[in-house]
Amino acid sequence: MAEELINKEPEFQVTARKWRPRNFDDVTSQDFITKTLRNAVKNNRISHAYLFSGPRGVGKTTVARLLAKSLNCNNRNANGEPCNKCDSCKEINNDNRNHPDVFEIDGASNRNIEDVRELKEKVKYGPVRSKYKIFIIDEVHMLTGASFNALLKTLEEPPAYVVFIFATTVPEKVPLTILGRCQKFDFKRLTIEEISLRLKFIAENEKIKVDKESLFFISKKGDGSMRDAQGLFDMSAAYCDNKITFEKLKSFFNLTESDVYFEITDLIKARDAKGLLNYFDSLMDKGYDMQIFLEGLTEHYRNLLVACSTGSSELIIESEAVKQSYTENISKFTQLEILNSLKLILQTEYIFKYSSNQRTLIEALLVEMIKFTDTRDISQLIDELKELKSGNYSESTAIKSGSAEKKASSKTNETQIKVNYSSKKIDTDEKTSSVNKPETTNDELQSNETTNINIETVDLNSHWISIKDQIKTERKWVYSIIKDTTFEKDDNENLLIRVDDTTYELIDGYRDYLTGKISKYFGQSLTIGLVKSSEFISSSSGNDYFQPSESQSVLENETPQANNFDKIRNILLKDFNAKEIIHK
Ligand SMILES: [Zn+2]
Repeated sequence: MAEELINKEPEFQVTARKWRPRNFDDVTSQDFITKTLRNAVKNNRISHAYLFSGPRGVGKTTVARLLAKSLNCNNRNANGEPCNKCDSCKEINNDNRNHPDVFEIDGASNRNIEDVRELKEKVKYGPVRSKYKIFIIDEVHMLTGASFNALLKTLEEPPAYVVFIFATTVPEKVPLTILGRCQKFDFKRLTIEEISLRLKFIAENEKIKVDKESLFFISKKGDGSMRDAQGLFDMSAAYCDNKITFEKLKSFFNLTESDVYFEITDLIKARDAKGLLNYFDSLMDKGYDMQIFLEGLTEHYRNLLVACSTGSSELIIESEAVKQSYTENISKFTQLEILNSLKLILQTEYIFKYSSNQRTLIEALLVEMIKFTDTRDISQLIDELKELKSGNYSESTAIKSGSAEKKASSKTNETQIKVNYSSKKIDTDEKTSSVNKPETTNDELQSNETTNINIETVDLNSHWISIKDQIKTERKWVYSIIKDTTFEKDDNENLLIRVDDTTYELIDGYRDYLTGKISKYFGQSLTIGLVKSSEFISSSSGNDYFQPSESQSVLENETPQANNFDKIRNILLKDFNAKEIIHK
């Protein structure tokens, strides 16, 4: 606590050091960890190795020191808290300069095997004047493999008086053999509120005035790290002469943060490219960092998206005043517009660091964002198109999804198929299939002079695969129903697509399209028949196999209809991501 400050140097001491918690109770957040450790000390259930992991600046080293202090305190209280008055406590509070039994080692600069050997030498001898010999190794993941191996031997059979406290920001880099011997504690990022409360407490004790907006701003800038936030707090206090106001902070941090971005979006909405580029230029003149600008822009659009999608500013991490601005501005934007802009910004962010001309990259981004202003929802446009072409459209939709629904209702009322947007779009294409219809007969086929590929000799099926590939990119729906078909000649040299009995009727609807497609492929007008697998062996000699009257009557029966419906259903579900709604 303040009155217990041991280090009463007259010169300025940074807040992070001066206000480092002296008791477990002072630690901001990490409640679970401090409580567990204090109880362990209290009940004398000490592990020989601890691993503290978590982001930087969240209290790992602080808690390691608290633990060391508590373990070696001569007058520890009944609650497990250190006295902060005995020699051992004073040494540790005084940055551990002369403590004979507590060692702080930086893993990054003592990572080699020689350093660990030196450490093991120290382990050999018992503590000089305390109960425990404690080794705090910071950034332990930096140790070399050999160092870890050497350390492991000590961890396997540690002397009773030794306690290791490892701290790391990258626990994944610590070998499992080491991890397995440690009691692990994960330190969490601090919330803005936690940092804010602590800064407020410090400000009150230091007689520094700070307004609410500034407190929030500094806490947020800390990005989960108390140490970083305290550093910013020190800078702000110095700049503002111990009276921190947000107005002063704005000029100090060279920002108006949200104001800047609202100004940017206003200019974008006004489609004012010149004003936008001039404004960006003025920000650069003020020494604005381009990377920070991009990050801020991303956050701004993220906030707009949140406000637009949820209709509230609840999920926005900003001060109340700024939240209010988002709520007020949201009516200016459509969700699609925000999404498009956000995608564009994220793409730019991704290539930004590799770009040799970062400024131009951002300028191009800003101008391009103007393009997305007033973007209308594509489904809205499609609806408008539908209205324009309403006659054609309703006719074409009847071709397929209509028949699917009809069958659904004739079979059962319990299942509905909802065709998603992409398959409907394909439906509208189908009306063009009649254009491809070649007015050809078998006679023409035989007398055709413009043969590009000799149809008599080719392996029809290998060509069929290529044709199907073309269809796949052109009409996904048609491909879905013909993908398992084969293309062959019967005994009478008729060209036939052999289809599964259950898909016959479906494919029949596209016969003209398929005929056109195949004719185009072979460079000649061809007549193509469609035949069911079950009828293939003895096909008729005339043209009549197009309309096999017997098979038609079979299709009227219930079983094939049900099969057919299942087939459509499966294709819709599988290839078109349709959703099935079961009514109970
Ligand atoms: Zn003590």
